[in-house]
Amino acid sequence: MSLTIKPEKGSIMDWIEEYEKSLDKKPEIEPKIRKKRTKIPFGLQKRIMARSRGKCENCGTLLFNIKFDFHHKNYDPSDPRESNLMVICKKCHVKLTGPVPKKKL
Ligand SMILES: [Zn+2]
Repeated sequence: MSLTIKPEKGSIMDWIEEYEKSLDKKPEIEPKIRKKRTKIPFGLQKRIMARSRGKCENCGTLLFNIKFDFHHKNYDPSDPRESNLMVICKKCHVKLTGPVPKKKL
């Protein structure tokens, strides 16, 4: 999950709304490990976002206007438990998992 959000909006809830809208436009990314990927429910994404206060949970960078991902701590994309997920910036995600391969046509 990666996207960029412009920082015009004030509150994190506005930001989450923008994020929700952007989900439709976002192309799917193939998981590195081909396990059955379970979609992270939006309510859960919101909770993780609120938990992190809009910051990367790895390095603390504010996630406004930069790309970020939901990272599965156990590297199992079929395991969308809140305790298994953290919101992190793209930089940290690449560090943790390596670059995400491009989807084959
Ligand atoms: Zn980070």
